[in-house]
Amino acid sequence: MKQIVGIVIDSLAFAREERHLVGKLAVSDLPRLVDILADDSGLLSCHLSGGRNEEGKLFLLLEVEGELRLKCQRCLEPLALPLDIESRILLVPPGAPWPDEGLEDDSADAIEALAEQSVASLIEEEVLLALPVAPRHESCVLPAGSDSDILVVSPFATLTRH
Ligand SMILES: [Zn+2]
Repeated sequence: MKQIVGIVIDSLAFAREERHLVGKLAVSDLPRLVDILADDSGLLSCHLSGGRNEEGKLFLLLEVEGELRLKCQRCLEPLALPLDIESRILLVPPGAPWPDEGLEDDSADAIEALAEQSVASLIEEEVLLALPVAPRHESCVLPAGSDSDILVVSPFATLTRH
């Protein structure tokens, strides 16, 4: 399947001509994500298509599937996060008024339409928006030999470490 990294589109033309782009993107090609991951292995499957909404405005539809390995904020062990993103991104042509957030369909994001839009950075942006603020296991696997009361942490415990 096609590699998405390095592909640049004219976003308005892409939407106007109702083009499709299907490909794979390596997680390691998303530099803004790598910092928060336990490791950067894996591939994302991506499908980008363009079209017009009911009001005649041009938009992109982005679907991303795959899995990220985040760090659990409680035990710092890897945490698998399945991704299944489907976002509609409204294109705002240069000089056009920015949509009023209160009036527009809030299921769609809006971005400035670029003549040279990197598809990988578009995907990275949508993936970042889809991530939980503080990813955690539902129940962390505690280190062997620890007692069940290990989760009851005294507020003073952190002070003594400094
Ligand atoms: Zn955990």
